[in-house]
Amino acid sequence: MQIGIIGGGQLAMMLCEAAKKLNIKTVVLDPNEKCSSSYICDQLITSNYDDKEGLDKLARICDVVTYEFENVSVAGLESVNDKYHNVVQGTTPLKLANDRLHEKEQAAISGFKPVAFASVSCNSDITRFAKSVEYPLVLKTRKFGYDGKGQRIINDESDLDSLEVINILKQGAIIEKMVNLDYETSVIAIRNSDGQIRFIPSTNNVHMNNILFSSEVSADSISNSIIEKVKSYINYHDLIGIITVEVFVDIDGEVYFNEIAPRPHNSGHYSIEGCDHSQFDMHIRSICGIDLPDIKLIDHSFMVNILGQDYEFAKQWYEINKCSGIVFHDYWKQGAINNRKMAHITAVGSNNVKCLKKYSVLAKERNE
Ligand code: ADP
Ligand code: MG
Repeated sequence: MQIGIIGGGQLAMMLCEAAKKLNIKTVVLDPNEKCSSSYICDQLITSNYDDKEGLDKLARICDVVTYEFENVSVAGLESVNDKYHNVVQGTTPLKLANDRLHEKEQAAISGFKPVAFASVSCNSDITRFAKSVEYPLVLKTRKFGYDGKGQRIINDESDLDSLEVINILKQGAIIEKMVNLDYETSVIAIRNSDGQIRFIPSTNNVHMNNILFSSEVSADSISNSIIEKVKSYINYHDLIGIITVEVFVDIDGEVYFNEIAPRPHNSGHYSIEGCDHSQFDMHIRSICGIDLPDIKLIDHSFMVNILGQDYEFAKQWYEINKCSGIVFHDYWKQGAINNRKMAHITAVGSNNVKCLKKYSVLAKERNE
């Protein structure tokens, strides 16, 4: 069996590691011949993500094709799927994730309520929305946003004249009510074509500058009502493979759909050591038609992302503190740019978690 992965970053790298354990070969398509996956995949196709020839080759030589990010060319993927019928997940997850407006409309249709939202193209659309939903609001580009990019909080009408707002509106945008958050959580689900669904134990996430900083899980504390909402959303859209659903819970306990990511999620990286089956193992299993076991948390786990500015510091810290319960995952990227995800460290077991938390305090201080 051989799987093809579009994109060769760290998510693909960890999918390749999981595939190896299952004796499945991997072919990765990425324009960068030194991408993270290049050091572990069995074959690399060096081409742009939407290059017809590259995609055709990938689909031709692989039994199953998947993707590690959501902004894959839907047309390109549909055309190879029409020919080779091996994109098991299809393009529905991408179509849902690629456009915030469509994503939220479809969530509402499936019965999972998103935060109050509207499509907007000019300031008067926003002021009209503000008449029924009070400020503050959040303006977001419909496409290509990540890690809080392409977003602007609108506190009142005076914020509407900023260049940033004009720029976001130009790209096609939605406006949203700003939720008074109690907490936010990401639910990582894996579903196969028989409709079996499994969940990765959910984490408490801490963000820094809109980028995930750390995830912690000590018991699977996610409420059944959230799990049921996610389940019915995924079943309604007949989604296959791994899907992360980001959920907001406001201070009144109201649960809202935020967005999905049809790929492994950063908050689930801990599962490589922290669970008996990781999010990467489970995705490979689901798209290759291998049974989906229940997932158990092995012990209290904690993961910290290592960004470019902390990469050397983290490596030095790890050299001093490494042990069997603390693992450093290097993504082997060229160039430790500020805020670029370079690696992550996972600790399993309470003493190891305590130790890694000391690192996270130091890293936080460095970033303040
Ligand atoms: P992306 O992750 O694609 O950048 P999100 O919509 O998930 O975009 O927004 C990033 C973060 O900004 C969220 O995780 C949340 O912390 C905050 N945020 C976004 N929209 C809202 C909202 N309507 N109310 C409260 N917080 C929000
Ligand atoms: Mg998000």
